[in-house]
Amino acid sequence: MPVNLISDTVTLPCTEMKKAMITAALGDDVFGEDPTVNRLQDRIASMFNKEAALFCPSGTMTNQIAIKVHTKALDEVICDHYSHVYQYETGGYAFNSGVAINLIEGENGKITAPQIESAIKPLYDWLPESKLVVLENSCNKGGGSYYDLNEIRPIRKLCKERELKLHLDGARLFNVLVETGESTEDWGDSFDSISICLSKGLGSPAGSVLIGDKEFIRQARRFRKVMGGGMRQSGMLAAACIYALENNISRLKIDNDRAKRIGKVLSQSTWVETVRPVQTNILIFDLAENLMAEKVLQTLEEKDVLATAFGPRTIRFVFHKDISEQDMYWVERILKEFN
Ligand SMILES: *Cc1c(COP(=O)(O)O)cnc(C)c1O
Repeated sequence: MPVNLISDTVTLPCTEMKKAMITAALGDDVFGEDPTVNRLQDRIASMFNKEAALFCPSGTMTNQIAIKVHTKALDEVICDHYSHVYQYETGGYAFNSGVAINLIEGENGKITAPQIESAIKPLYDWLPESKLVVLENSCNKGGGSYYDLNEIRPIRKLCKERELKLHLDGARLFNVLVETGESTEDWGDSFDSISICLSKGLGSPAGSVLIGDKEFIRQARRFRKVMGGGMRQSGMLAAACIYALENNISRLKIDNDRAKRIGKVLSQSTWVETVRPVQTNILIFDLAENLMAEKVLQTLEEKDVLATAFGPRTIRFVFHKDISEQDMYWVERILKEFN
């Protein structure tokens, strides 16, 4: 089996997780009657000190629903130019919500209150209305960089003053919390809505949860239905997600540490120009001038190491629970051999 560093979405459910899935109590969730889905939703809502939560098939859907509920057509979403909602959701903000997007060039995917303040548009007939700020934590395209709560507070304050909603794309929020030690409750209190992926490093085969107040989630349920996300006996998936929350959070620190460990090896390699700052489980590096990513990836693949290009001369490694210590030694050896 090759060592797969393509993404933390490649993780497979373990035997115990599968057991939890087949023994889950089930019902029809479109009627709100799947006890396992309800248990997952209640659990995540209370973890984040929020009133309600909604289980969805994917993180794209939770983000798209959040934009839909928080805005109306001709409004505008403010976010960093690296944001998943802009880069990787098929332009869905325009398609689903009829809104414009106002991109800020932040630092490694992170934006500040002053940057947001100067991006907010004045009220003129000929301009879209700024209504929603979307932050991403950790920032995927920003190389797994993260915000701590001290950086969020001034943004939250600004959004309240200017009556903008604040949504967190927290696909990998738990990779951040194992670093900062901050509480889920404090993060919940800082946003109007949060999207959490259970299918990344947490290892569920599918599923994301959207969290917010009761009225927000009531509206979100309607949009989930019209987007085709009403899933009936989805308790089988929710059971995997509950298992992930109970067993796979604290071990995310291992993935973060492994990214740093390989980052060190790369920073001492002759064929690497720069290693972007490693903060969580994502490692992005730029190749020396004469090398192309496609070629290097091909050579890596011949050595049973899989990864993706993040630009013509840029490569991304993502660390996750299905990488063993033996795999780590193998990757280190191969990377050192390249020198
Ligand atoms: C993976 C991811 C999502 C959601 O992706 P899905 O594949 O639709 O579940 C959203 N935001 C970020 C930052 C992600 O990395």
